[in-house]
Amino acid sequence: MQRLKNIQKTFLIFFLFLFTTQAFSQQEPILPIVKSSIKGINIYGKTVDNQTRCQHWHSDLDVIAIKFKCCEKYYPCFSCHEEEADHKPQVWPKSEFDSKAILCGVCGSELTISEYQASGNTCPNCTAAFNPGCSKHYHLYFETEN
Ligand SMILES: [Zn+2]
Ligand SMILES: [Zn+2]
Ligand SMILES: [Zn+2]
Repeated sequence: MQRLKNIQKTFLIFFLFLFTTQAFSQQEPILPIVKSSIKGINIYGKTVDNQTRCQHWHSDLDVIAIKFKCCEKYYPCFSCHEEEADHKPQVWPKSEFDSKAILCGVCGSELTISEYQASGNTCPNCTAAFNPGCSKHYHLYFETEN
């Protein structure tokens, strides 16, 4: 009988321990994660707001996301895809430049790659200014001559 009581006591202590550790773990601070989406379109990667800015690119002008050919998901930049996707990126071939693959973070409209490249870095829908520096990185997303 004494032995049974001891076992009960051990269990009680064990459950108390479980309970208290759980209560403590719930008090730990939760890191802020911005789950970014624009007009129902999810933006993946390390987003910091709901206009497609990310931890790598977050100036006033950094308001586009690119849909990656490999996974058909929008990411704010190449680095976001590199750090979060579990696969190598694929670029859009020229034959598919009529695919909607650019998202304006200001108005949420989707542009085709051709529309984007002809836009003069201004959203044709809401006239938001895009970062002209992005053109230096076209080769990371789109098939180019060289
Ligand atoms: Zn991908
Ligand atoms: Zn990024
Ligand atoms: Zn726009």
